[in-house]
Order: sequence, then structure tokens, then C-alpha cells
Amino acid sequence: MGNYYQPEIETMPVEQIQKLQSERLTEQVKFVYDNVKFYRDRMDEKGVKPDDINGIEDLYKLPFVTKDDLRNEYPYGLLGVPLSDCVRIQSTSGTTGRRVVAFYTQEDIDVWDECCARAIVAAGGTKDDVCHVCYGYGLFTGGPGLNGGSHKVGCLTLPMSSGNTERQLQFMQDLGSTILCCTPSYAANLGESIKERGLKDKIKLKAGIFGAEPWTEEMRHNIEETLGIKAYDIYGLTEISGPGVSFECSEQAGMHIQEDHFIAEIINPDTGEVLPEGEVGELVFTCITKKAFPLLRYRTRDLCYLTRKPCSCGRTHIRMHKPMGRSDDMMIVKGVNVWPSQIESVILNQGYEANYQIVVDRIGNTDTIEVQVELTPQMAADSSVTIPEREKKIVSGLKSMLGITVDVKVVEPKSIVRSEGKAVRVVDRRNLYC
Ligand code: ADP
Ligand code: ZN
Repeated sequence: MGNYYQPEIETMPVEQIQKLQSERLTEQVKFVYDNVKFYRDRMDEKGVKPDDINGIEDLYKLPFVTKDDLRNEYPYGLLGVPLSDCVRIQSTSGTTGRRVVAFYTQEDIDVWDECCARAIVAAGGTKDDVCHVCYGYGLFTGGPGLNGGSHKVGCLTLPMSSGNTERQLQFMQDLGSTILCCTPSYAANLGESIKERGLKDKIKLKAGIFGAEPWTEEMRHNIEETLGIKAYDIYGLTEISGPGVSFECSEQAGMHIQEDHFIAEIINPDTGEVLPEGEVGELVFTCITKKAFPLLRYRTRDLCYLTRKPCSCGRTHIRMHKPMGRSDDMMIVKGVNVWPSQIESVILNQGYEANYQIVVDRIGNTDTIEVQVELTPQMAADSSVTIPEREKKIVSGLKSMLGITVDVKVVEPKSIVRSEGKAVRVVDRRNLYC
């Protein structure tokens, strides 16, 4: 088994990483120009030739690629190699709009697995761990990605997939799972079930690797407490490979982007201008080693910022701050920008768990927003605070966070549907009238 903490790569001095990126980028641009008509046409339209790209300083010259481009080119338009050299497809979960399909050669899968292996090692994983993967398997990249990484590290891998909570808990106890991999909302759901059944002492989990959806620091604390673990964030998207594009180290202060494979930029989403380190904007990735689906300057629509401040873990790869959500997760309600993650942090700060739903509607010309928040069983048993008092307190917390008045409805325990994969937090009924 390899040691997937790779100091020669992960702690390489920044100038060397950038030199490596420049070499790989130059080669990759030639490769896509020669092999993908889509890129050739786009670059020709912009008057950019492969010879104009001699390093990362020239990256800005290349055209962007958007999700709409992927949809238009569906299914084979962006293939960089003959279909017969591809061994796998995966597909986005379709959170927003039509699915897109990504292709992989065996080498692409190896790189993806390696990125996930690095994430598992950064979370303290070794070959002695039992890695319980309950991200969905199948077209969704969560299960296959962490599964591959776990194999590379040499963990005993439990390919549980999502759902069937009883079976998850049984295996977790019987086989002594030590690392849990799933969406944060499913981790919260499992934590709740463990608490209800009084199983915390029978569970050996020490770490969790959670991603595929936005989650707040408050949610991290909740999960860490209920499961008695350290919870690590992991980020990725199908188009770029899957989970493991970036991941947290023990510092839990942003996710290191795997810079030997991906170049990250932050741009102003309106103008496309590249923003300096530290400024919030849209995250853009260029794949410099992938061959089957080699995306250049792909606009993720995820909003965050980057930092190169030294990290005490020793890794030198640039870190991205946890995305607060995708630009299309942001709701404009009563003219104000509202992020589900802002609502989550207010609710969790008041002692509720992450069982909530946001319903946005329009009556006449006026937007309405209702946040349904579930009582915990302890709150339901506590008669010293009334429901109207609880609602008032949440309304006031949300008003200071968002600047608008939100209707709040506190509901009985277990009345909000639990998530087994990516949680659906927002029901926007206004879309029905478009
Ligand atoms: P879909 O676009 O259908 O959701 P994916 O399953 O590939 O397809 O999801 C990738 C998206 O999930 C990312 O672009 C990002 O918005 C979100 N995501 C993944 N990991 C995280 C994370 N750790 N924190 C916040 N958002 C994340
Ligand atoms: Zn670090």
C-alpha cells in the first residue's frame, strides 16, 4: 500500500508547484487543441493559439467553459480521447438543471482515487482504519470516489451507499467503523439516530469526511459533538473529477486544492476578471492532468476565496474557503440576497438541529419566506418556553442576520424529512409561476 501523504508533492515549495502547473498546463492546452474540436473552435474564435500559453501567467487568455457548454456538448463533445479509451462515466446529481456526464480513462480514475486517498490520510486514515462509505454509489461521484481512495490507503472499505439507517448502524457497530464518509446532512441524520438509540458508546468512529453540499461551522460542531469525532470537509464536483479536488487537513481552516492536478482561479462572476487572493468570487478550475474530460477554466458557480497563507500542517497547496453555496443557491427574497447557510447558522446557534426547510413563495407581487424549524425532543419536553416565544426569537435572529422579516414556524420533532444524500433545504414555489 502506498503512503498517500505525499510530502514531495503536498509540501512542495510554491514556486515549484507553479512551475509544475505551468509545464502541465502548456502540455494540456496543446492536447485539448489537437483533440477537442470544441476547444479548437473557442480558442480560434478568441484568436488564442496553443503557443500563446506558456505557463500559468497566460491562463487568463483562455476562454471559460460553463455548465451550459457541457449540456450543449452532451454527451461526447468534450471527449479528449477516443471513447474506447474511456472506462467509466459518472454524472452530476442534477441539483440544478439537467445532468451532465463526465468520462474517465483508467489514469483519470487513478488520479481521482489518489486525491481521495490524500483526503483520507489528511483526516488521520491509515490501513488499519475501517472506512464506512455511505455517500451514494452509482452515477453520483461521492461513493465511487471515497471508495477508490479508501482502497488506495488500504482501509477496510465498507461500500454501504446511502440510506437504510438501521443497517448502517448495525455494520458500524459490528465492524467497528472508524471513518465515516457521507454528506454532512446524512451524518447529522445518523448522529440523531445514534443518540436516540443510545449507541454512542458502541460506535468507534474517530473521523468523518463530509462534503458534496454546503454546511456551516455550526453544523460541524453539532456533528462532532453527537458523533464524538473530528469532522473534515471535502469538496469536489463531477465535472472536475468528483470529491477530493480539495480537502481539509487537521487545521480545519480551508481545503487544500490538489494543485498538481487542478489550477484554481477566482473570478468576478459578472465580468470574468480574475480577482486577487482573498477576494470572494466564482471558483474556476483547469484540469492539467485529466485526459478523457479535460476541462479548462470551468466555471463552477461556487463562491469562495483562496488563500496561500502558510498552513501549520505543512501542506503548501493553496486553500479554498468553504463555499457558502453556489451562486444559484442564493435566493433573492424581498430584494435581499439570502443564503440557506445563513439561515442554518442562526437556527443551529439557537440550539436547534439541522432539520429545517425554507419555503419561498410569492403572493401577488410580494415574496414570502417561511422557515420551518423542528423542535429537538428535549425542547418538545420543556414547557418553560412556549412555541410563540421560540418563533419570536428565531425571527429576531434571522432579522439581524438577513435584514428582512422571515416567517418562522416551529414544528414537532420528526416532521421534516431527513436527508440520505444531498439535503433539499429550499422549496421555491415562485419558480412554478415562471
Ligand atoms: P450537482 O451539480 O448536480 O450538485 P455534483 O454532485 O457534482 O453535481 O456536485 C458538485 C457541487 O456540490 C459543487 O459544485 C458544490 O456546489 C457542491 N459541493 C461539493 N462539496 C462541497 C462542500 N464541501 N461544501 C460546499 N459545497 C460543496
Ligand atoms: Zn493544512
